[in-house]
Amino acid sequence: MTLIPKSHPRLNSLLIREKLVKGFDDNLVAKEGLLAHGRGEAFDYLIGEKTSKSAKESIKAAAFMLKNAKNSVISVNGNFAALCPKEIIQLAKNTNSKIEVNLFYSNEKRKKAITKILKKSGAKEIFGLNKKSSIKLLGIDSARRIVDKNGIFSADVVLVPLEDGDRTIALKKAKKKIITFDLNPLSRTAETADITIVDNVTRAMKLLVSESKKELKKSSKYNNKKNLKVSILEINKNLERRAKNA
Ligand code: ATP
Ligand code: MG
Repeated sequence: MTLIPKSHPRLNSLLIREKLVKGFDDNLVAKEGLLAHGRGEAFDYLIGEKTSKSAKESIKAAAFMLKNAKNSVISVNGNFAALCPKEIIQLAKNTNSKIEVNLFYSNEKRKKAITKILKKSGAKEIFGLNKKSSIKLLGIDSARRIVDKNGIFSADVVLVPLEDGDRTIALKKAKKKIITFDLNPLSRTAETADITIVDNVTRAMKLLVSESKKELKKSSKYNNKKNLKVSILEINKNLERRAKNA
């Protein structure tokens, strides 16, 4: 780890960046994953690097949906595993969800590294590893459509953080309820998911884990389209405040 002064105004964002770089060195994170993080970081700057009111609402709705699913699956990619391995295991326990390693850029070495860190953090069963139980989703080009027959393929609710739009659309076509973390409220994934948590996954996963420990009531008011609109307006407010003080 490099030494970052504690007083640095963007300390958290730099610490997150270090985790990603370490994840890259440890073969967890793909090069493309670093770039996707950069895009996320830019949006985090715009939302003020804190969890917004609208994100808190999405987190509540997500905890309820996961806990009330028949067969929920948490999809894990390299960035997610590098940033919050412990929270992935805790969330799976609290919501009785399966864990599937599912990569946009499939790579056996990376799958092994991700499996290792998940096991080290306490995972017992991990889906997506056995080629014999892999199956293809329709409506998406070949390399990106493999899922586990006993995992995502048979799930009713799937949590897909930091996901590409094509895959989210394919999962919707397969009639899954989708929950995502995406700092960009304008992305296709953000627009396609049933619940979009517009927040940094490192902050939001901690909140989702603690929310999922509670007895929850359904929030009948939750509407993802409206919530996304509020997220965009929250960014706008931040920018107006900055413009005033500029
Ligand atoms: P889409 O394909 O959905 O239109 P995109 O092509 O712009 O989106 P991708 O690289 O496919 O982006 O997806 C990665 C997404 O993950 C981006 O929208 C990015 O903002 C988001 N992201 C990256 N890092 C984080 C993070 N730490 N927390 C939450 N979201 C993140
Ligand atoms: Mg994309």
